[in-house]
Amino acid sequence: MAKSDVVRVTFLGGLGEIGRNCLALEYRGRIVVVDAGLMFPEPDMYGVDLILPDFRWLVERRDRVDAVVLTHGHEDHTGSLRYLLQDVNVPVYGSALTLGFARHRLTEAKVAGLEFIEVEDHERRRIGPFEVEFLPVTHSVPSAHSLVFHTELGAIVHSGDFKLDQNPIDDRRTDLARLAALGDEGVALLLADSTNAEEPGFTPSESSVGVALRRVFLERPERRMVVACFASHVHRIQQIADVAVAQGRKIALMGRSMEANVKLARKLGLLHIEPADLVDIENISRYQPGEICVICTGAQGEPLAALSKLARGDHKSFEVGEKDTVVLSSHPIPGNEWSVGRVIDDLHRAGTEVIDSSREPVHASGHARQGELRTYHQLLRPRNFVPVHGEYRHMVHHARLAEGMGLDPRHVIVCEDGDQIELSAAGIRRCGQVPAGFHYIDGTAGDLDERPLEERRMLAEFGVVLISAGVHAERGEISQAVRVSTRGWFEGDDHQVVTHITETVREALDEALRDGVRDDGALSKVAQRAAGRLLGQRYRRQPVLLVSVAVI
Ligand SMILES: [Zn+2]
Ligand SMILES: [Zn+2]
Repeated sequence: MAKSDVVRVTFLGGLGEIGRNCLALEYRGRIVVVDAGLMFPEPDMYGVDLILPDFRWLVERRDRVDAVVLTHGHEDHTGSLRYLLQDVNVPVYGSALTLGFARHRLTEAKVAGLEFIEVEDHERRRIGPFEVEFLPVTHSVPSAHSLVFHTELGAIVHSGDFKLDQNPIDDRRTDLARLAALGDEGVALLLADSTNAEEPGFTPSESSVGVALRRVFLERPERRMVVACFASHVHRIQQIADVAVAQGRKIALMGRSMEANVKLARKLGLLHIEPADLVDIENISRYQPGEICVICTGAQGEPLAALSKLARGDHKSFEVGEKDTVVLSSHPIPGNEWSVGRVIDDLHRAGTEVIDSSREPVHASGHARQGELRTYHQLLRPRNFVPVHGEYRHMVHHARLAEGMGLDPRHVIVCEDGDQIELSAAGIRRCGQVPAGFHYIDGTAGDLDERPLEERRMLAEFGVVLISAGVHAERGEISQAVRVSTRGWFEGDDHQVVTHITETVREALDEALRDGVRDDGALSKVAQRAAGRLLGQRYRRQPVLLVSVAVI
């Protein structure tokens, strides 16, 4: 082992939030990026459509970046790829399905001239400075991988998102034997999924969902079944389809990504639905309710997805009602509870029966709980550990779990976005910090920084106050009366507050004019400060102030 060998890991996203996963491994002067994901905004991020990692650190080093390696096809791991590749055009590695999902979004975004390199399970290949091994793991999307980066210091294992499903739909199990062999060879550093690190026990197998779905379907032979799930959850779609077909139902797909993903997964041989069992959504009225099963998107309450449209009665050829049962085969991602609740309310309003995971076990998580995490750690016996993929508390729980299994706390670091660590023969240590704030994308306005977003929040919460006035420079007096109007805040006492602002601004302008101030920018600032102080101190409000003082 070269004594001076070090590997630097830079965490660009996904540590402290579920979303925008991205990290960089730096070895012998070269950089390989693992995942480039996105995150969806919270309800108070007005007009924000997506949140990306801050890629500046990578862009500044683009000459040294060799590749992006994807663990699996979920958007929190692949969704920001097109933004990264615009500036850092390097080959992208991943399984056929992972690349298929990622590529679909890139084609939509019209990013051209890119190189995609498909890898097989268990494959080992040279990528930049590393030998990289792709180990199959079970997760809520097929063809997911744990990544092993072989270095002179030992293996660096990135778990990817995983659970240890003993009974997966496709019989493709997590490669426990190889993990154990890696443990024997020596794992220098483990980076592992913390999403369910707070949960004791084991995550139920995906196949248990099929059992629950079968029961729900069997109890409702006369009803039309509408099942919503993630469009990337190919195994869930398979199970819904199998249950439906066994009951003699035809399957109709709803939602653009559902149709696209089903097409891709069937083409890759990962999803098996006979063409004869599929019908067009436009034609389902030709069938009795008990002869149809609709599989649709929108299980997270996304306002533009199929289920929300159905719930609002916005779909042109299909209306849900008293003969329908809607199954939400999902669990709301934190932050989505409100929108999911609204969809469920709308469905009830239409007289529809709704079944979700609080009533029947029609969903299973794709992430390992404590029991599985312990097994994963036990097999690998890493010398150093950094929890990834989670809110801060999830990562703290994961760190404690590792320490509870005998790992010296000096070899465990809980990191956050922007942290850099250095791995050497001696262990791991923090070695720096890089910019890693949220990068907001507004679909119509493009990139946003924190300032306009803060203004939007203030507009939404406190409204806006418009102030204008004219000043005669020579005479040093107000020539055009101070005008104040408001939007989005005042109601009953509108007039009184407006008068109050008007007087305060006039007094402040008079005083500044007496002091000889004649510059329009400076006078506008005087007016803004006076109005801001009055509103903040007297009315406890911080509206957006738009001030214009013209000097003539
Ligand atoms: Zn994830
Ligand atoms: Zn995932």
